[in-house]
Amino acid sequence: MQGNQKPMIESPLIEKALGYIGGQWCGADSGKTTPLLNPATGEHLADVPSMGVPEITAAVEAAESAMAEAPSPGRRARWLTDMGDAMLAHKDELARIITLENGKPLAESAGEVEYGASFFHYFAGQLDHLSAKSLPGSIRNCRWTVHHRPAGVAGFITPWNFPVGMVGKKLPAALGAGCAVVAKPAPQTPLSMIACWALAEQVGIPAGWMNLVIGDAAAIGGVLCAHPAVRVISFTGSTATGTLLIEQTAPYVKRLAMELGGHAPFIVFDDADLERAADELMVNKFRAGGQTCICANRVYAHSDIAVRFVDAVADRVGKLRVGNGLDPQTTLGPLINRAGFDKVARHVRDALENGAKRIVGDDPPRPGHDWGAFYSPTVLLGVKSDMAICREETFGPVVGVSEFDDEQQVVDQANSTPYGLAAFLFTADVERAERIGAALKFGHVGINTGTNPTPQAPFGGMKQSGFGREGGLEGLLEFSEPQVLVRG
Ligand code: ADP
Repeated sequence: MQGNQKPMIESPLIEKALGYIGGQWCGADSGKTTPLLNPATGEHLADVPSMGVPEITAAVEAAESAMAEAPSPGRRARWLTDMGDAMLAHKDELARIITLENGKPLAESAGEVEYGASFFHYFAGQLDHLSAKSLPGSIRNCRWTVHHRPAGVAGFITPWNFPVGMVGKKLPAALGAGCAVVAKPAPQTPLSMIACWALAEQVGIPAGWMNLVIGDAAAIGGVLCAHPAVRVISFTGSTATGTLLIEQTAPYVKRLAMELGGHAPFIVFDDADLERAADELMVNKFRAGGQTCICANRVYAHSDIAVRFVDAVADRVGKLRVGNGLDPQTTLGPLINRAGFDKVARHVRDALENGAKRIVGDDPPRPGHDWGAFYSPTVLLGVKSDMAICREETFGPVVGVSEFDDEQQVVDQANSTPYGLAAFLFTADVERAERIGAALKFGHVGINTGTNPTPQAPFGGMKQSGFGREGGLEGLLEFSEPQVLVRG
């Protein structure tokens, strides 16, 4: 496997824009590459390999061979600590790379690196949970011990919205549990992962434990689903792709962790602290330009406070600065591509045509190419449940507000979606918060906060938002297989 893709992007962390298999940087066997553009400027950042079945298979085999060595938990914990430290030491450069290929503002990219690193540090301290446990006493005249064995090679397929954050959640759990990894970045954001793999090489994670394959999604998915050495696939992305992977793995009975789409409700009651709710909505909704699976997509405000709340939000939205994420003044970057722009524009048009009122925003020009998809931050009032914005994930900087009067009515509306990832509610009434928290069918429920997940807690979806968890002990156990030894 050869490759010599000198990237246009100048970075000490990206000497060559290549994949990494069995401890070697390599391109596609065919020599084929795909150009990668900056979504804000159209600047040509690099040509990345278009790998196919043979390279992916080689990566899986490299991972399988590496696992034969079975390093101790102490050694694996050291890898995680060293990786987390290295990410923080190179935070600024990693952040710059994320912004160049994803478009999000630099400060957010730096926050994403810290977030990713925090999972490495957290899991480094959790590996004791994998120690063998002897069950007390004699059972059926035998002594029983429960072991946690590495599940097998882990395949990762990740999206572009958090190129470091997403792999940061998965990698330390898999490596910590003793699983070698084959990871596939999203086609829009391979460079951030190349940079992380360069750090892994620097800190001395041995050959074969972290493999990076870049190229044809269907080919990579096909090998990961069918190869017998891959025992776990951890996927973050759309429900459509997740469903396909479930179907493709069905004949092989593999473990899956699926973090799929969201369609988060954000409910504001009449007794809520409206300034606080507006502040939290801003962070929650506009992080990554509204292109996150936990961001509020349906905002329900009690009719007594709806106008006041919308005014508070509109004030803040009016202060957002749209532009190139590398500019320190920018607080909202471009959408990832023109398809993203078209979807947001369709949702806004549909809402306006069906009676919603635009409080902030305008009709930005459609870009003539796949980059430069800047959408004006928008606030809509009078959104109804049959509008597209209430039925589909918008993935853009649009706040659509509906009014409600009754608690049960808003809970039913919030739950009336096939998705169940994140929900948020704002109220001063502690009992109501508990009651609604339990009634909402979502894996992550924020009460008077719009906060994102944290390494210490299991994060994941209910219903069609998926299954499996990232973070917490649950996240570690996704990659570990319990085995019982019974001694007679
Ligand atoms: P999004 O719409 O957010 O890009 P996708 O589900 O299309 O969501 O993409 C998430 C990840 O899944 C990306 O890395 C993408 O390349 C990958 N992907 C897309 N189609 C397939 C497929 N058929 N098999 C495996 N991975 C896929």
